[in-house]
Amino acid sequence: MAGKQSPSPTLENYHVISFDDGSEEVEAHIELMELAIQQANLARPIETAFNVGSLLVHGRQIISTGYSREIPGNTHAAQCAIIKSRSTSQAHLVRGSVLYTTMEPCSFRLSKNTPCSTHIINAGVKKVVIGVKEPLTFSECQGVRRLLEAGIEVVHLKILEEQCLRPNIHLLS
Ligand SMILES: [Zn+2]
Repeated sequence: MAGKQSPSPTLENYHVISFDDGSEEVEAHIELMELAIQQANLARPIETAFNVGSLLVHGRQIISTGYSREIPGNTHAAQCAIIKSRSTSQAHLVRGSVLYTTMEPCSFRLSKNTPCSTHIINAGVKKVVIGVKEPLTFSECQGVRRLLEAGIEVVHLKILEEQCLRPNIHLLS
C-alpha cells in the first residue's frame, strides 16, 4: 500500500522510529501525529494532490494546525500551519518549533508555488516529524533531503504510516 518510495537519506540528523518502545518521547510523537492525521482527514480528496495534515508545536503546546487546501489558493498543509501561526498569539514561538506532518514536505511544486520545505526553512522550524515519505505518485520528493541540508532535524515516525497514507488511498491503488 505504501507504494514506491525514494531512498532514505543517511545524514546524522535523520532519525527513524520504527516501533513504539513505550518511552515518553515516542508516546508524545504518536499523540501529536494522530492530531496531524485528524487534520489530514479534514482535506477534501482530489485527484491531483495528496491529503496531508500538519501541526506546529512548541514543547507540548500546539501553535497552529493546517491541512491540504485549507486556505484558498491550492495550499499545502505545512504551508497552511505556518501561515496560520502568524496570526496567533504564539507566533513568536514558531522559530525553534517542531512541525508534525503526515507526509514528507514537498520540495518542488509544478504550480511554481513555493514548496513547503522552503516555507519550513524560512520559518525557522528546528525539527520536522514526518509520518510517511511522499509516494512517487506525482514527482520524486526531495523534501527530507532539503530540510536536512538546511540543518533541520528530521524524524521519520514509521509507526503510523498506514494511517498517514489512508486519506490518500484514492491516489495509491
Ligand atoms: Zn507542500
